Amino acid sequence: MTEDVLCQSKIKLFLIVLTVTLIPTVFSFEKSTYDLKSYSESVFKRLETVMNQKFDSPLVTCVEYDSLSEFINETGAPFFIKGFSNENGIFIQSRSLLGAQFEKTLLHELMHFTLKANVNIPRWFEEGLICHITDELAGSRIAPMEDVESFVPSEAGNNWELTSYSLGCLKKVREILELEEGL
Ligand SMILES: [Zn+2]
Repeated sequence: MTEDVLCQSKIKLFLIVLTVTLIPTVFSFEKSTYDLKSYSESVFKRLETVMNQKFDSPLVTCVEYDSLSEFINETGAPFFIKGFSNENGIFIQSRSLLGAQFEKTLLHELMHFTLKANVNIPRWFEEGLICHITDELAGSRIAPMEDVESFVPSEAGNNWELTSYSLGCLKKVREILELEEGL
């Protein structure tokens, strides 16, 4: 009898340890919904003003991963990006890892999602326009990429290349916007 009880309690202990070990794997991300207009009305209005048209502000599902490894394993994204968006939503690294960068990344990706839902513009123009409005690349000393039209951001080999791409997009968009302002 005593051995049986001991054995049962060992099994119980094993199950508890197993459950506690598995919980982080099962609940490795958190889903929330956002829309750009509610998140930042000023940024939403600036997008409308620059594009000179009224926009919808669609709800987007945002998946926030608990750890860098979850983010990489679940999405297939490289470790050096903070987040990305596609037609299914926004996929972003944990706010505890990104710190102050979390809100900036979320805003950036919300702008991508909202622009895609409203206008049909080239990928490089979308990126440049977002960076123009957020001014997130101010002070960067990386050389802007020249041929942004033929670059595929998802194939970037490192963060330096991505920043160079964004700076190239920004440069091109600012040239176009200045040209239009001068008309
Ligand atoms: Zn972007």
